Amino acid sequence: MLISLVVPCYNEEESLPLFYREVDRVAAEMKESHGADFEFIFVDDGSRDRTLEEARALHQRDARVRFVSFSRNFGKEAGIYAGLKAARGDYVAMLDADLQDPPGLLPRMLDELLSGEYDCAATRRTTRQGEPPIRSFFARLFYKIINKMSDTEIVDGARDYRLMSRKMVDAVLALGEYNRFSKGIFSWVGFRTKWFEYVNVERVAGTTKWNFWKLFLYSIEGIVGFTTAPLALAALIGLLFCLCAFVGIVFIVVRALLFGDPTAGWPSTICILLLCSGVQLFCTGVVGEYLAKTYLEVKRRPIYIAKTTSEEEDDKNRPQ
Ligand code: UDP
Ligand code: MG
Repeated sequence: MLISLVVPCYNEEESLPLFYREVDRVAAEMKESHGADFEFIFVDDGSRDRTLEEARALHQRDARVRFVSFSRNFGKEAGIYAGLKAARGDYVAMLDADLQDPPGLLPRMLDELLSGEYDCAATRRTTRQGEPPIRSFFARLFYKIINKMSDTEIVDGARDYRLMSRKMVDAVLALGEYNRFSKGIFSWVGFRTKWFEYVNVERVAGTTKWNFWKLFLYSIEGIVGFTTAPLALAALIGLLFCLCAFVGIVFIVVRALLFGDPTAGWPSTICILLLCSGVQLFCTGVVGEYLAKTYLEVKRRPIYIAKTTSEEEDDKNRPQ
């Protein structure tokens, strides 16, 4: 039984050695308890620091370590995809390099999968400790909105940390879309998922790569990727405004016929004009968002471009 650990890394030179030490310990334990072999796949997402060098050093020291290095920063979603693609294990786990996803949970997760009842063991954090309150507020709001609109359930507080069976990994890889929103993809492919809960822990070293604006864009990605409800909503708003306008027209025509037409009501006209054009622009924007995603999708660009991999470097260094 081989277990692959997929680790997307972006500027994680400080965390990587710490992460390796921790995960190596858990791997040794699980070799004892479950007879599981491991491979570690570090995906260097175009880091600007010495992350690749660290991964290379680990590969030289430990043959179980493999790496893929991107030609530039493609984002965590691309990193996950590349890692899953490279993974050869019967079971594949994904975890962050910053030890925010406790590897100590792996034995229990594996137990669930081995019982045969589940194809996936996923984790969610129960608290949002150590996070700015405003971010927590918007995060909660996002989950509320998307779950109202989308048929695919997006679990609040779900982390990307999960262990999957080979079947599920293949299913996830079959979804070759360019705009990837993992939380949605994992839910969309189905399979029975066992949820593990744990209290949020702070990263061991380095800093988070997410700011508010990035998270906002990511949430739009999630909504556009997993529901077309905003399009219907835009149409509905349009219809509602037409109705209002119709009632208004009838009212004004009747009033003009009965009482004549004194030139009044300029401010209200401007207000209505502003409101309507605002709504129109908003709806066009919503449609545009879908159009943009469609545009990117039909280009069929690769999800990532690898600059080098551990296999490639081994081949090069092998004596002829
Ligand atoms: N990450 C990545 N590419 C990016 C941003 C992040 O591969 O463009 C990785 C990062 O190295 C880490 C994981 O994704 O292993 C989670 O990132 P981070 O800890 O910054 O996110 P947070 O835990 O704060 O949500
Ligand atoms: Mg983190």
